[in-house]
Amino acid sequence: MKWAVLPVLAVAAASCATGAGVTEVTGPAGEAAPGATTAGAVDTATSTPSTTPTTTTTSTTTTSTPSSTTTSPTTTSVPALAEAGPLVVDDEGVPVNGQTRGVVVHPDGWLLPVLGTAGDAWSVWTPCGRQAVVERGTYLSHVDVVVDPGHGGDREPGAVGPGGTRESDLNLAVARRLVDRLRVRGYEAVVTRPGDVRLPIVTRAEIALALRPAANISIHFNAGIDAPHAGPGTETYHQLDDPGSRRLAGLVQEGLTEALGGLDGVRWVGMSDAGAMARPDREGRDYYGVLRRPAGVTSILVEVGYLTNPGEEALFGRPETQELVAATLADAVDTWITDPTAAGSGFTDDPIFRGYGPSGAGGVDRCEDPPL
Ligand SMILES: [Zn+2]
Repeated sequence: MKWAVLPVLAVAAASCATGAGVTEVTGPAGEAAPGATTAGAVDTATSTPSTTPTTTTTSTTTTSTPSSTTTSPTTTSVPALAEAGPLVVDDEGVPVNGQTRGVVVHPDGWLLPVLGTAGDAWSVWTPCGRQAVVERGTYLSHVDVVVDPGHGGDREPGAVGPGGTRESDLNLAVARRLVDRLRVRGYEAVVTRPGDVRLPIVTRAEIALALRPAANISIHFNAGIDAPHAGPGTETYHQLDDPGSRRLAGLVQEGLTEALGGLDGVRWVGMSDAGAMARPDREGRDYYGVLRRPAGVTSILVEVGYLTNPGEEALFGRPETQELVAATLADAVDTWITDPTAAGSGFTDDPIFRGYGPSGAGGVDRCEDPPL
C-alpha cells in the first residue's frame, strides 16, 4: 500500500446554515499518512499517485459532531472515478445499496460513500442516505476491516443497563478499541460512526460495500434475558450464505466465551442455545440488515453479553474488560485471515426461534444529516 498526499479542501457552501461554532477551513494542507502494512491475504486497493490539483478553497461550515480519533487517518489517492449520476432509491425512498466506491473521510469523522465525482469535488451518500457534494476530506478506497458500533444518537441507544449504561456507548467504546488493536496488528480498520450519532443501517451497509473489507463486524450488547447461564451468553450471528462469515462467527464465539468465561465471579445470563448461529427473516434472508444489506461482504454481528444483567453491566463498563473483548475480537479476525484451517466452535445449528419483529434498525425517514 502506498501513501499519497491528498489535498484537503474546504467544503462547498451547502444547505446547512444553522448553529454556532463556525469553523474556517483553509486548504490545501496535505499531510502524509502514517505507514501501515496491509495483510497479504486481503484484497488491497490499487491506486495511482494523486494528480489532483491542490486548489485553495476557503469556506465556512458548522460543526456539531465530535470529531473522531478512531476513523482512519490514512489516505489513498483519488482513483479514476466517473462523474456521479443521481442517487438511486427504491419505492420507499431508501437508497439502493451497492452504488458507491470508496469513502470520503470527512474532517468530522463521517465516512461518506462516494457515488462519483462532481467537478473537482465528490458526490457522496450522506449519513442519512441522501446525495451531497463535498470538497473536504480524504478519499479511502479500501480497508481490511470495517467495525460497526451498533445504534447511536439520542433516539437509538439500544439496550440500556439497570445502571444507565447505554449499549450505543459501550458498542462504540469496544469498537474503537478493536480498531486500535487491529491497527497494531497491521490491519487497516475504521469505525462506521464517528461518535454518539445515529447512522441508519442502510448507510452502515453502504460503507462496508464501498470499502470492500475482508470482514465487517457489527458490535452489540444484548438485552432481555435473565435466565442464569453457565458461561457468557455471547451470541454471534453470521450470514446464511457465506461460509467465511460462519467461520469468523465461530472463531469470535470461541474466543469470547473462552476469554470471558475465564473471569471469576460473574453471574452470567443467556439463552440456553447461545452460540454462533444464523437468524433468518420471514423470507429466509438474513434477519439483521447489517448482515443482509452488505451482500458479498463477509459480515457478522456479535452480541458480546447482556447489558441488562447488572453484573455484566458493571463488568463490561470496565476499561480492562473492554480491552479484553477488543483483543479477543482482533485475535479472532487475525486467525480467520491467517489460518484458513481454523474452523471456530460453539455453533448452534438449530437455534430457538428469536422472532421476526423489527430489529430496531431505523430507517432514513426523520433522519437529519450533519453539516458536511
Ligand atoms: Zn444492539
